[in-house]
Amino acid sequence: HQLIDVRKVSKIYKGNIQALKNINFSIEQGEFVYVIGASGAGKSTLLKLLYREEEQTSGSIKMGNTFVDRINHKQLYLLRRQLGVVMQKDLFLSQRSVFENVAVCVEAVSGANDSEVTVRTKDALDVAGILNKSGRKVNELSIGQQKRVAIARAIVNHPSIVIADEPTANLDSKAALEIMKLFFKINSMGTTVIMATHDSTMVNTVRERVLELRHGVLIRDEQDGGYTRYP
Ligand code: ADP
Ligand code: ADP
Repeated sequence: HQLIDVRKVSKIYKGNIQALKNINFSIEQGEFVYVIGASGAGKSTLLKLLYREEEQTSGSIKMGNTFVDRINHKQLYLLRRQLGVVMQKDLFLSQRSVFENVAVCVEAVSGANDSEVTVRTKDALDVAGILNKSGRKVNELSIGQQKRVAIARAIVNHPSIVIADEPTANLDSKAALEIMKLFFKINSMGTTVIMATHDSTMVNTVRERVLELRHGVLIRDEQDGGYTRYP
């Protein structure tokens, strides 16, 4: 069923910078969606509106049955529990272990004792393929391994949606492929994935839905789309 509905959404930053213009689309549970476009096209802004780091200037965004622009703090908290976010720059407790960085993100649901936190953390680290580095400090890991920790953190509360902003930026092609495979695996487990990317090879090889932005305008919304409309 329909999970996200974006209607007539525009975003104007301070200084009259229009980052998004009249955006319309909806996303169903379980979809995998690439968000593509040149640098400055509005990809990050669109993702930030979905995870509420920014608010739209006009238009509406509905997640499930909730209009996210009309929610209070408690509802925002509930909404964020449904979302896992992998940011462009990962912020870690760099002196803490991989395990601790993920464990602190486990929601304090009623009755979640230490052993349950441990089980859920190990589970997420296992899915992300980084369980064997549990005890290491995050700043001792490679960029690709750090990305896996960020992904473990994003999935540890079993969100229905994972949003990732250029998760393969700064990775060599081998590491990038591994990270992409991980997102496809997460998607195959039923999680909706929305990913901004510049990885044209991947978008052309693993065909999924493509939302293409140009100068803040949604110029293409295509199932099984490639990186360019006319490859
Ligand atoms: P403030 O001045 O109140 O901090 P701004 O909107 O100027 O608010 O900036 C908010 C954040 O966005 C800052 O971290 C800033 O570095 C960043 N930022 C500002 N302008 C741009 C831009 N053109 N592109 C990307 N990021 C920007
Ligand atoms: P992309 O992710 O596709 O590179 P962004 O969403 O980061 O694009 O940026 C879209 C436009 O909005 C750019 O012109 C950028 O400079 C501007 N922008 C992004 N963040 C801010 C900000 N906080 N303040 C002002 N302008 C911003």
